[in-house]
Amino acid sequence: KRMLIVFGTRPEAIKMAPLVKELQKYPDHFETKVCITAQHREMLDQVLTFFEIAPDFDLDVMKPNQNLYGLTADIITGLKLVLETFNPEYVFVHGDTTTTMATSIAGFYSGAKICHVEAGLRTFNMQSPFPEEMNRTVTGVVSDIHFAPTVTSRDNLIAENKPSKNILVTGNTVIDALLFSVNKVNEAGFKDKEIDLLTELLDASKRTILVTGHRRENHGQGFVNICKALKEIALQHPEYQIVYPVHLNPNVQKPVYELLSDITNIKLISPLSYPSFVWLMEKSHIIITDSGGVQEEAPSLGKPVLVMRDTTERPEAVDAGTVRLVGTDKQKIVDEANRLLNNEKAYLEMSQLHNPYGDGKACERIVNFIKSL
Ligand code: UDP
Repeated sequence: KRMLIVFGTRPEAIKMAPLVKELQKYPDHFETKVCITAQHREMLDQVLTFFEIAPDFDLDVMKPNQNLYGLTADIITGLKLVLETFNPEYVFVHGDTTTTMATSIAGFYSGAKICHVEAGLRTFNMQSPFPEEMNRTVTGVVSDIHFAPTVTSRDNLIAENKPSKNILVTGNTVIDALLFSVNKVNEAGFKDKEIDLLTELLDASKRTILVTGHRRENHGQGFVNICKALKEIALQHPEYQIVYPVHLNPNVQKPVYELLSDITNIKLISPLSYPSFVWLMEKSHIIITDSGGVQEEAPSLGKPVLVMRDTTERPEAVDAGTVRLVGTDKQKIVDEANRLLNNEKAYLEMSQLHNPYGDGKACERIVNFIKSL
């Protein structure tokens, strides 16, 4: 069977890399090719290097001032040649990006079976100005096989009348990626310049609070509030250091550098490559983030997560108690951080909870399912 795996952003690459590796284990069953759209060029390449994946096709769609119209059109037209050349029987897409949605449509035109990994997440808010809910819903409509990370996501698909025989609950492939990466960065011979720099930067006598944030819904007042909260946490807790790899988007960079540059126990750094980020997550005490992937990964490392969002398409983590939604209200962020920093019992309770996103065997389940077809 000819399998085409398509992705374009860093989180998609992280979550699809272990699937590529699992498919490549069975060359007698599968001819596996990887196509990147390079919706996030630089961050994507770092992930591919770490997982030792060489793409077979590269659409390189990012142009200055690229917008969603151009991006969608370029991905669909760019994929035409790839689909006609390789003629895959199965096209794998992931999650909810423009790459996901546009690829699923192009794959549909080619007659391939569309397999959606991380299927069935929903916010039920199609009125949002951001395209993710539309992307994941449209992809669901044209997909033949849905790999749902959790029972909740499967139930969302069943409620949309997708046949249950075409849905498999697998766990999230990000846990496969995380466990692979934790092992690799802890191997005796592993060397990474960025990790060496981080080791120099961190004060070994202080515990670390790791912060990330990028979501458009938090741009503007949201990030201003977040920064004020981080400043207060840093000032109240000189025994901690806040390490914050700042997303490159100017809407994030501006408030963060303006408000947090001169606080001695806040270290603002560039976004990290995946291995160093995994290394830093492992070293952290708690994580404050608005990232989807980080919420899924951190509980597998026993790290409590405060999520700076009001709504989430990942309710399992909230239900399991591994994350707490704190929104972008300054006082709420400070209070919830203090609850974990000042109360060892509350901290331990949260850090020992079971991760609802899986056990690191999602890709094995996906590949076994495909083999059985
Ligand atoms: N990540 C990384 N470097 C960073 C911040 C995050 O490699 O500086 C990883 C993180 O471990 C997770 C993924 O990127 O697997 C999450 O990406 P992001 O927060 O950009 O997107 P989201 O998950 O919210 O879609």
